[in-house]
Amino acid sequence: MICQKCGKQNPADSVFCLSCGEKLADTVRSSDGVYFAEDCPVLMTSHSIIKDVTADTVSLQCEFQNLSRKNIVALYISVLCAGIDGGEMQGIDEYVYLDMAVGCGNMFGSDIRISLPNRAARKISITPKKVVFDDGEMWNNDALMLEAIPSISIDVLGNLADTYRRTVPPQRQQCLPQKTETYWQCGCGQVNLPNEPCCILCNTELTSQLESCNTDSLTHLREHYRTIDESEAKIEEENRIETEKAKKLKLRLAFIGICAIAVVIAMFVIFSR
Ligand SMILES: [Zn+2]
Ligand SMILES: [Zn+2]
Repeated sequence: MICQKCGKQNPADSVFCLSCGEKLADTVRSSDGVYFAEDCPVLMTSHSIIKDVTADTVSLQCEFQNLSRKNIVALYISVLCAGIDGGEMQGIDEYVYLDMAVGCGNMFGSDIRISLPNRAARKISITPKKVVFDDGEMWNNDALMLEAIPSISIDVLGNLADTYRRTVPPQRQQCLPQKTETYWQCGCGQVNLPNEPCCILCNTELTSQLESCNTDSLTHLREHYRTIDESEAKIEEENRIETEKAKKLKLRLAFIGICAIAVVIAMFVIFSR
């Protein structure tokens, strides 16, 4: 990206000119939602439409994650574009992310901007067409577009949500684990392919996660926690009473001591006359 002000050649994903600080790009649309298509070995973890301030053009910047256990060397996508009014406009038939070696769970694409043919494009739909792996195998897709995956909030558990949060480690409290026909989402937020028994990010088993949000076992656990809390409160109260007693005894002893000293002094005064 060439700065119109000073002429410096900047990296493609620059927001400000490295030489003079001139603003080069503006984000006009962005989404952090995760997008997935059935069977697809990649997940789109974020995407935005960026406006080149000086050239008055727009481009698409996406971040993808490799969900498969194999290394990805290329990803082919097509992009449908629409204007702010939803009216269809020229898109991109094919764009290729090339020369990569992306391992399982790793991200790619966030440093690449794909120029959109129409500067008024504000809505986009992305179709992953082909993924090429380092062993030469390929995943092909004709029609399935990437669609947003809705996370399920832990709060849907209602009055069992607190019990769930007490059981599950903090890093797995992003959302409720869910399993569908085409993917499963870990409590850490990671989307996994159906054939993965454990999360590719935190390595937790799917089955144990689904058990941990079972309402029957959560109700049972809530009772268990209540018993623990009650006995802890009881012990605390007993300790408090004991401390109180000890304090009173100390005061009494001190009072007796002072009285004894006073008597001794009084007698000493009387007898010394
Ligand atoms: Zn500059
Ligand atoms: Zn996980």
